Amino acid sequence: MATRATIGEIEITTIHDHMSAWRNPALVFPGVPASAWDPYRSIALNEKGEWRSVWRGHLIRRVSGDGPLVLVDAGMGPGPHEHTGKPGELLDSLAAEGVPPEQIDAVVTTHCHGDHIGWNVTWEGDAPRSTFPNATYHIARNDWEHYTKPENANEAFDRSVRPLESIAKLELVSGEHEIAPGIRTLPTNGHTPGHQCILVESDGETGVITGDLFHSVAQITEQTWCPTFDWNTEMSTASRISLLARAHREGWVVFSGHLYTGKSIGKIVERDERFAWSPI
Ligand SMILES: [Zn+2]
Repeated sequence: MATRATIGEIEITTIHDHMSAWRNPALVFPGVPASAWDPYRSIALNEKGEWRSVWRGHLIRRVSGDGPLVLVDAGMGPGPHEHTGKPGELLDSLAAEGVPPEQIDAVVTTHCHGDHIGWNVTWEGDAPRSTFPNATYHIARNDWEHYTKPENANEAFDRSVRPLESIAKLELVSGEHEIAPGIRTLPTNGHTPGHQCILVESDGETGVITGDLFHSVAQITEQTWCPTFDWNTEMSTASRISLLARAHREGWVVFSGHLYTGKSIGKIVERDERFAWSPI
């Protein structure tokens, strides 16, 4: 199963970082009764009925090798992570693609939750430095404004986003913002105030990196299911419904933030008059 796909002249590769612990889905989707999972158990949960999330980024580059290298999301970070005792692997995964951190030209954050920003900043004692020293970091202005308010203070944001203001090239973006030719942000607010997808268009083909628009493959069909992590469920549901409908209608290739590796890239198809996930 695929861990990369090409959109015209542009290749998008999953960059593995780590995985969350297995969790009872009732804790993550409190509004969804256990029986409602039954049709999706084999694709969404393990044999014990538990859910987990893969933490990853995506690397966008031109097949020709020219042009900018764009990293979308920066995983949970170096760790070591409590539930495994092991470090995150994002930089190793990039190295396996032949990409040292210095070569990344742009880091784009779908949203400012800890599992998408973890490698942005490297701390040496009390001193932060940018992990990708030649990159411009693109953060949604709505998220920046939200998490810099004292009442929304967030430890992950303070560690991995806020220092960028003084140690890196930081660009606050809003609306549809071009990162590089064929690559732009697409606001899909709700999971956080500034949550955005990344749209990639080349040679008449379209791909979309969806961040946390959905966390379980079941949500492709059950689009009103919301995880407890969604900041505004009315808004996140509207964003999910609208983007998935467009991805289906226009035949986009969808690169999900958290689905299981090997099945995280797919298309939105229609089965029995409902949407479903078809991994490529
Ligand atoms: Zn996430």
